[in-house]
Amino acid sequence: MVSTVGDAATLSSQRRFPPYRALPPSSVSRPSPPSHLKTAILGAGVSGLALARFLVEGGHDLDDLTLFEAAPVIGGLCRSKTVDGFTYDVAGGHILFSKDAGVMQWMKDVAGGDEAFVRRDRNTKIRFDDRWVRYPFENGIGDLPKQANFDCLQGYVQAWHERKASGSTAPSDFKSWIRWRFGDGIAEHFMDPYNEKIWKRPLEDITSSWVAGRVPDAPIEDVLRAAIGIETDGYTHQAIFYYPKKGGFQAITDGMGSTLGARIRLSTRVESVVRHGEGWRVNGEDFDRIVSTLPLNELPDIVEGVPDGVAQAMRGLAFNSIVCYLVALDRPEHPNLSWVYLPQRKQGPVNRVTYMSNYAPGNAPEGQTSFLFEVTYPGGAPEPDIALEKEVLAGVETAGLLKRDEILFTDRSTSRYAYVVYDHDLDARRAQSIDWCEANGLHPLGRFGHYDYFNSDQCTIAAKAMAGRLLEVARKG
Ligand SMILES: Cc1cc2nc3c(=O)[nH]c(=O)nc-3n(C[C@H](O)[C@H](O)[C@H](O)COP(=O)(O)OP(=O)(O)OC[C@H]3O[C@@H](n4cnc5c(N)ncnc54)[C@H](O)[C@@H]3O)c2cc1C
Repeated sequence: MVSTVGDAATLSSQRRFPPYRALPPSSVSRPSPPSHLKTAILGAGVSGLALARFLVEGGHDLDDLTLFEAAPVIGGLCRSKTVDGFTYDVAGGHILFSKDAGVMQWMKDVAGGDEAFVRRDRNTKIRFDDRWVRYPFENGIGDLPKQANFDCLQGYVQAWHERKASGSTAPSDFKSWIRWRFGDGIAEHFMDPYNEKIWKRPLEDITSSWVAGRVPDAPIEDVLRAAIGIETDGYTHQAIFYYPKKGGFQAITDGMGSTLGARIRLSTRVESVVRHGEGWRVNGEDFDRIVSTLPLNELPDIVEGVPDGVAQAMRGLAFNSIVCYLVALDRPEHPNLSWVYLPQRKQGPVNRVTYMSNYAPGNAPEGQTSFLFEVTYPGGAPEPDIALEKEVLAGVETAGLLKRDEILFTDRSTSRYAYVVYDHDLDARRAQSIDWCEANGLHPLGRFGHYDYFNSDQCTIAAKAMAGRLLEVARKG
């Protein structure tokens, strides 16, 4: 299935699940005797906040918890920003959905319950020349111009036939894997240009190990049907999503933080973590245990005594950054779209466009609308300058999404850590880094804490499991 996720815009069904030892829900909600173990949580994004909430729900004394947050506000990648009445999510449009209904309900409940959310039907398309192509791509090839439709169909059938005839196994690099799985047509018209925009490096440098075996083999009959214009079901995951009525996606993390009060130390960067007896010293203060949601690759500069080999593995973990442009529009109404993908090079550097004002009524003043444009850049590279904004606007204009005279103003936000990059060294580096952390009682958690492709619900699931583990230790100890 050629599909993209709200988050990643890569292949959706390849999500990796972490090797956490998930405990039954009761292990978190069951009250345990107060442990009086002092716990430090590094980072107050959704992972750190959810962990703190689950610990307290499970009986951990709130006064024995401390969250360290470098930013002046909580929320991390889930933050939102409001400018002149227009609200947008700073790290790309975020939606709430989960395969774990219990966790999703918990996330809604901490932020005001069902009443505080709007429910939306996902309507996602791919922009190709001046057309709208159904999503996912292989279910929409009948919407393509005739030559592109033929290229995609021929390549798909050929690749399917070659796989069946040769019994070949999946190639290890992403570029070859795309051709092996989807054929030359889909590779050239969609997968290659689209993924080059996201990953900002040759696709040969990305591994296929995270996709192989996780992408369902779309029945060839469906692709044949799609090519001649018969509608097929396609991708049903995230068919429905939720979004806070007010305050952007950040309303969820604000809700999580609302009962933690002064236990969250804002504008407090963790600069030093030192082993001290059985516990840890964070910025000179003693704790019995520590959970880190800070980017794993930064730990060698913060944690004392990381062995050279492990430090090298951590430092080598690759990531991409993101810059997001809010464009406020003097346009009374958008088409009924959630987000669209821009795979073509002529459409400029943007890979995904969120119809931000369609997410919730609170996201734009009445009678006006907004877009959110996402552009990635390699982690560690200098932040893009104004020239990129010009390219962005020229590209989306070429794609036919807006006219310059509709623009009221623009605003932009950058996030240094946006995407874990699945290069060929990732698995080995991550395993070595996490093994060392766990063996030394420094528990890694979260998207960059654990270096995995998590959405906020998966962060919450992992935080719940982590809380179960810590509470269990406290009960036994
Ligand atoms: C483009 C994009 C789209 C996405 N779309 C969705 C979506 O639609 N739905 C969804 O559920 N998820 C989505 N996600 C994923 C979601 O944003 C993340 O899974 C989640 O926010 C990660 O939370 P975290 O707490 O693990 O990490 P973070 O949010 O990165 O939190 C880490 C925190 O640590 C702090 N910190 C860092 N260094 C230090 C230090 N030295 N000292 C103290 N504090 C420090 C940071 O300031 C930050 O607050 C998307 C992500 C991206 C990039």
